[in-house]
Parts: sequence; C-alpha cells; structure tokens
Amino acid sequence: MAIRTLTPDVVAKIAAGEVIERPVSVAKELIENSLDAAATQIAVEARAGGAELIKVSDNGVGIPSEDLELAFQRYATSKIGGLEDLDRIASLGFRGEALASITAVADVEVHTQASSDPTGNYLSLKEGVVVRREGRARPRGTTITVSRLFRYFPARLKFLKSTSTEGGHIAHLVSQYALAFPEVKFSLTVDGRPSMRTTGGGDLREVVGEIYGPEVAQRMIRLEHKGGLAQVDGLISPPALTRSTRNYLSLFVNRRWVRSPLLTRATAEGYRGLLSDGQHPVVVIAVSLPAQELDVNIHPAKAQVKFCNEQAVFSDVRKAVEEALARTPVAASPKATPFSPGSPVLQSAPMVMDNEPAFAVAQLPTMELPILRVLGQLANTYVIAEGPDGLYLIDQHAAHERVIYDRVLAQRSRKDVEVQGLLQPVTIELSPREDETLRCNLDLLSEFGFAIEPFGNRSYLIRAIPAVLTEGDIIGAVTMLLDSLDIREGPSRWEDKIAESLACHGSIRAGQQLSTEEMRGLIKQLEQTGQPRTCPHGRSTMIHLSTHRLEKEFGRIS
Ligand code: ADP
Ligand code: MG
Repeated sequence: MAIRTLTPDVVAKIAAGEVIERPVSVAKELIENSLDAAATQIAVEARAGGAELIKVSDNGVGIPSEDLELAFQRYATSKIGGLEDLDRIASLGFRGEALASITAVADVEVHTQASSDPTGNYLSLKEGVVVRREGRARPRGTTITVSRLFRYFPARLKFLKSTSTEGGHIAHLVSQYALAFPEVKFSLTVDGRPSMRTTGGGDLREVVGEIYGPEVAQRMIRLEHKGGLAQVDGLISPPALTRSTRNYLSLFVNRRWVRSPLLTRATAEGYRGLLSDGQHPVVVIAVSLPAQELDVNIHPAKAQVKFCNEQAVFSDVRKAVEEALARTPVAASPKATPFSPGSPVLQSAPMVMDNEPAFAVAQLPTMELPILRVLGQLANTYVIAEGPDGLYLIDQHAAHERVIYDRVLAQRSRKDVEVQGLLQPVTIELSPREDETLRCNLDLLSEFGFAIEPFGNRSYLIRAIPAVLTEGDIIGAVTMLLDSLDIREGPSRWEDKIAESLACHGSIRAGQQLSTEEMRGLIKQLEQTGQPRTCPHGRSTMIHLSTHRLEKEFGRIS
C-alpha cells in the first residue's frame, strides 16, 4: 500500500483507543473530571456493563457556557496552562483528551450548569459532531451521558461482546474512588439496581465497611506514617485477615488510583513472614508526596506513575506497613506453615523464593510443577513422589481441593457446569439466616449446578447438585456453603467461596487409601491447575525436599 496521511477521523479514533480501552475507561475519565471539578456528590449509572450507557452526574463547578464545545476538542483542558505545569500536576486530568476521545467512539450528551452562567446548558454530540445545543435548567454541576460505546468502532465492539465482566470492573472502579475520596458521596446504579452508596462523611473506615463489610472495617489497622519523602496513610488488614486474590489492594498516589508494582512490593515487604503463600491482605494505602517527585504523564490512561526517587517511596511504604503491624498483637505470632522455608529439616522452597515478596509468588514460573513420579502413599494422607530435583510429599486433600476448585470456576466461566440430577429430591431445612442467604443466592447457586426450589417455611427441595459433589453429604455441603456466604462481607467473594466450599466437600479426604492409578491421576490433574502448590485457602499442597538438601542432610556434601 502506498504511504498516505490518515484522515482526521481515523486519527481521532486511533488516539481515542489509547484513552478509552473499554467501558470502565469512560467511567474512570468521567469520575476523575467530576473530582477535578470539586464535586462532593458523584452518581454513576451503568447499563449493560457500560456498553449501552454510562452516566456520571456531579455537583461540581460545571462547565461555563462559552467553554462547552471547547471541552470536547482534543487537547482542550482547563487544568494546565503550559509545559511548566507538567511538573506539578495536582488534578487527576490534564491531557485534555478524555472528552474528545469519548466523543470519537460514542454518542455523548452533557448537561451542565456553572455558577457563572444564568442557566444550564445541554449539548448532544454524535460521531464527534454537535447535533444539538440548548439552554436547560439544572442545579450546579454536570451530567455526562455516554451511550452506544464503540458503535462506530467494530473491532472494539466485538471485544466488548465477548466480555461479561465490565459491570464488575465499573463497580470496582467506583469502590476505588470511594476509598480514595471518603469525603465525596458516591453512588452506583447498575442496570437500574442500586449497587453501592457511600455517605461522603469523610471516614475511610466507614467506606471500607460499605465496600468490604463492617467486620473487615472494624478489624483494619490504621496506617499513619511520615516517611522521609512520603506521607503514608490508610487502613490495612491484620495478618489474620487475608484474601486469596490481590483485588483487595487499593493504592493511591496523591489521590490518584494507581497500579504500581513498586508499591505492591513495598506493601508485601511490610507483611513479610506474616502471610502464607497465596494469601493477600486487604489494604487501602494513600501515598502523598510533592507533585514534582512524581511523573503521572507516562501513559494516556494515567493509571501508572513514575517516582523520581523510587527507593525512598518504597522504604516509606514498607516502614509504614511494618510499623502499623508491629502495633497489633497478632503480628507477634507469624502465620507460617509448619515447614516454612527457614525450618531446619525440610524446605518448602519452591513456594517462596528468597527475597521475593509473597505477592509475586503467584506469577513466578516456579508455580508450575515439574513432572512427578508417584512412589507411594504415606499414612493414607500424603502422596510420595519423585521429581527432577528430589522428593515431594503431597497432601492429597489439599491437592484435590485445588483441582476441584479450578475445575468448578472454569466450568462456571465457560457456563458448562456438570450437573448431577437427584432421583429422590433432598429436603433441607434452614435457619432464618441461612434461609436469607439462600434466597438471595438461588440464581448464583444454579450457575454452579444446584437446582434448589423453595418448599415453604424455610425448607427447600434440592433436585440437582454440581457433579463434583456426587459422593458427598449433600445437606452438609449446602449448609457449609451457606455459612461461608457471609452477607456482610459483600458478594465480591461469593463465587470464590462457593468454589472453595464445593472443593472442600468434593475432594478426597485425608485417611483415604488411594491406588497408584488414583494417585497418578491426582498428580496429573494437579499439574494442570493454575496454582498447583497451594490449596484454595492458600495452604501448601506439598513439601519439597531437594536433592541438594538430601545430600546435605546425609553429609554427602557440606
Ligand atoms: P482533562 O480532564 O484532561 O482536562 P477532559 O477531556 O477530561 O480533559 O476534559 C476537558 C475539560 O472539560 C476539563 O479540563 C474541564 O474544564 C471540563 N470538564 C470536563 N468534565 C467536567 C465536569 N464534570 N465538571 C466541570 N468541568 C468539566
Ligand atoms: Mg479529564
């Protein structure tokens, strides 16, 4: 193809793609604009995961009438004036790209009232062109409605159809901003249903309670540390309160929500030795430092920051965490597994590499299992196996739990759950609390393979169960599952919890004799899981005794 200059329309769409990757990016840019406009109330609404509609309303300063069209031009911003301002950015936005990018890929309506104007103004844009403008009254503030996202952008639209998780991303995003700005009253409505609401009372613990539940909020430890460079504030969980994913790590730099491997590592360092593998704390950490110590202009979506003095920030955050944990009595009893890496006889070495924080473990290539040859079973509980580097003792229950947990979640995400119909329905009677939990979760449970019908007066008929449970005790399994769904903890963890419960009930018990074939099958399945070395609760599935260690123990080498 001969070289030619792209038309402005194509250029705009390409550039827009860098800022607006997906619906949640629209929500992020609009919320940031509302915060920059000093709003104290921000209402977010999403429909169909944001693909159909994202609407953000605020009570901020509004957009003055004469600037209204300009706000939708590329590189039009009221937040910086020139190059010199880039060194001291105090606002969340500054590139003047977001509104222009959004109008390039969606239909946009804005309704705003600035205090300097006699009345409000309404503007509607389609394909980046103003199609309507009129005066329309409203209280001070701005509402921006974005609809039919990526409609003129087929490549992205296709991607969007294939993801069903956008609503969750938007909910997560709003939670993060609510944590970063406890003094702002946030609300989120998803498909017409109220999903989240904070009071704007300014108390971080209260916001944590709204998002993660009052029990978590109450147990969190206050973080307050004036470091050499940075001020570090927030709330962090005690070592006994952990989650199996890193989704509960909220990091803010100068009130900007960031993804920062540096801060993640610094936090993990602060918890060093206190958490088992696969466990992550619940953390809300706000780092404040002089604007010139920070470069926020390294990515169009502004989700990453670069610190001028990384070492200083790292050590300030690590110390802040260490100090807060040291203040709690729980920290005195480290939650290490019996055979921790430092223990004299055995080492669980592959699970934690020296100098690596616990957070990084899940991503290390060492998570994969080498090929293992089954040698036998010990105490009807452990599988003994040989690998390229020594001996492995595998906890058969923990290992099978991991296998089933992964299978349950994979089947569910493929919407291909194996179900076992019961010839005789089983009747189950529940306590009021269990009844409430089940009632709210009938749909979710059916997605995991349960067919349960109300049968009057807190009793239910179980007609089908997930196939992984076939041989288990059905009533016991369902009751345990309901107990694990803690309403206060919020639904974000429920799927994990259901999978954990099913895994626990559906797996081989300790004390059960296994044939060599069964053990081989188990190891083979374990090899195929994402995290073969830990069970879903984060405990080790195996102990590794390396050849080197053996040789040392037997005095073959010194
Ligand atoms: P940036 O935020 O980088 O300045 P945007 O394209 O996001 O660029 O917004 C352009 C301008 O529109 C902003 O600089 C601001 O002046 C104005 N604006 C956008 N949203 C709002 C809002 N909710 N309230 C007040 N002004 C807004
Ligand atoms: Mg902006």
